[in-house]
Amino acid sequence: MSPVNLVGQLPSELEDLAVELGASRYRGRQLATWIYRKSVFDLEAMTDLPKDFRARLGEVAFVEVPVPERLTPSQDGSQKLVFALDGGARISSVLMPDDDRITLCVSTQVGCGFACAFCLTGVMGLERNLTASEILGQVLAANRLLGEGRRATHIVFMGMGEPLANYAALVKALRILTDAKLGLGYSPRRITVSTVGLVPGIEKLGREDLKVNLAISLHAATDEVRERLMPVNRSFDLAALMGAVKRYPLASRQRVFFEYVMLEDVNDTMDDAHRLARLLRGVRAKVNLIPFNDWEGAPFRRPPLARILAFQSVLLDAGITTTVRWSKGEDVGAACGQLWESREATVGG
Ligand code: SAH
Repeated sequence: MSPVNLVGQLPSELEDLAVELGASRYRGRQLATWIYRKSVFDLEAMTDLPKDFRARLGEVAFVEVPVPERLTPSQDGSQKLVFALDGGARISSVLMPDDDRITLCVSTQVGCGFACAFCLTGVMGLERNLTASEILGQVLAANRLLGEGRRATHIVFMGMGEPLANYAALVKALRILTDAKLGLGYSPRRITVSTVGLVPGIEKLGREDLKVNLAISLHAATDEVRERLMPVNRSFDLAALMGAVKRYPLASRQRVFFEYVMLEDVNDTMDDAHRLARLLRGVRAKVNLIPFNDWEGAPFRRPPLARILAFQSVLLDAGITTTVRWSKGEDVGAACGQLWESREATVGG
């Protein structure tokens, strides 16, 4: 058996491993505490573990947090982290500081298989799923980069890939992130999972009792337009999607986020805004309008500012909380829909 990375193992799995190695479950809890709560990634530094246990552990396991191969700071204070994975693929995360909030955007797949027409990651196609270790590794690496006493305050699963298409690894990472005793102790209200609208995945996630925020990449208020932009709409249309959204369990004052990329003359008219307001009637919704971020060869344009603000007013008048999300890191290819990494070190991004 090849050695396993302890990063990405559930605390309960670390306990099981300790038992397999002839130690008590308590040793597993100590391991979880060192890795997830104290950010110590060197077995030798875990001083309260017996020496022979550490030696046996070292034969079957290791602790590894990825080191970003490249850091690209943007003019606006955000930073893109590029990681080279085993096997040669690359993924990126984006750190976005904003006053006392630091949001980290993480990837869940290498590439993406959903081929949304406006998204550059979709052009890559799907190469593979990330492991829980690779997902969590992005968080631990970013927090290490922020340094002593600082860490990402919010985590959004809005990087490369479709989180709900990598369900098992996603949920494992979420459990470790939200475990208050032996994990990273993130409040689920500071974690957001964004999806193209995979109905069975939304329903399953709702049953996990994780209480994380759900974001839906909506982008259109009619099936006709949505199908043109997002092939996934042929499998799960708006009626099915909105049904699943309405059944997603929400805590008091929690809302479902809807992302709506604004594409000139495609989905940005006043009629579109009114249709969107009708679609969201009866849903505890917050809408994020994302002005389209351009990439080379993209068949869309960003609407003029006035059009975006008029669209927003219609939603606000309908009583729907709506913000315009100006993406961060556009100058370094870190903005929504711009994440693309090549297998070679010198190009891309
Ligand atoms: N696959 C998931 C997670 C990615 S989130 C999902 O789609 O929700 C990334 C967000 O950026 C999505 O809402 C996506 O639709 C949006 N996006 C993609 N391309 C974009 C672009 N060129 N400009 C602005 N937003 C874009």
